[in-house]
Amino acid sequence: MKCEACRQNAIISSSNGTFCVDHFKSNFEKITLSTIKKYKLINDGETIAVANSGGKDSLSLLYIIAKYFKKKNSIISITIDEGIKGYRDKTIETMKTYCDAWGVTYKIYSYGDFAGATMDAITKLKPGIPCGTCGVLRRHMLNFSAAENRADKMATAHNMDDEAENVMMNLFQNDFEKLIRLGPISGISQYKGFVPRIKPFMFISEKETMLFSMVNGINALHTPCPYAGLGFRGVISRKIKELESEMPGSKRYMLDLMMELKREYSDSYVENPRSQLVNCAACGAPASEEICEACNVKMQIKRLKPN
Ligand code: SF4
Ligand SMILES: [Zn+2]
Ligand SMILES: [Zn+2]
Repeated sequence: MKCEACRQNAIISSSNGTFCVDHFKSNFEKITLSTIKKYKLINDGETIAVANSGGKDSLSLLYIIAKYFKKKNSIISITIDEGIKGYRDKTIETMKTYCDAWGVTYKIYSYGDFAGATMDAITKLKPGIPCGTCGVLRRHMLNFSAAENRADKMATAHNMDDEAENVMMNLFQNDFEKLIRLGPISGISQYKGFVPRIKPFMFISEKETMLFSMVNGINALHTPCPYAGLGFRGVISRKIKELESEMPGSKRYMLDLMMELKREYSDSYVENPRSQLVNCAACGAPASEEICEACNVKMQIKRLKPN
């Protein structure tokens, strides 16, 4: 297998090309920067919050954003500490090491501070698959932390695999409105307190982001969360991997279809949204009900906790 740019030995072949180490690195950065440029994800002078779990994907994203945007933008790393022992505590140490090395300010927000319980404690209070509750809290805290730090955008390291999962999950849940809100920049920016989310890695696969971190010497933990693989997302993730191995390119086709639907229908949904957002009566965050999902979770935990 030879690099398509220089004919040296290649280390990867994907829908983005077949490359040696050096050309893989430069092509990876080129795709990321062209996604940012094409969809106007980062504009000069904006404050960009980077969601940084301390894992390979988010550190690779922070590395590129710090390398190319630090001069004209203010960059802040935000870590959400779910409170998962043996997992997040380790990635937080990695996150601190790299933020210090790259001169990026970091802040940590924990479920313990917001909801009064760590994710490990919540799994004991609420038996069953924890990912739904965890996702509600994480989305809320990412938006809250970005708004608190006056960020214009919140960058996440969602890659092609993650986005293909989102597309399929919304298809199977028959949620067209959520489906067309996906994409490289998502969310409803006209609502007060809402910080748009950007996904510069959306057109790069999980395999490529992992390789990029390795070839750049980013020594991040590759162990998944102990609760990963449970629930609906776990099922969808496995099915997409099977599909991609039998029909290479399927993930990319799912994204292309979603982008096409978005182009066609998002304007009419912005003008006539099915669900109007309000501001949560408890915390002020954008919500579809009087009390947002995260505040509901918080109240539920309070009720379940022994006195
Ligand atoms: S796998 Fe589930 S519990 Fe673990 S961090 Fe992700 S959403 Fe939270
Ligand atoms: Zn090459
Ligand atoms: Zn709320």
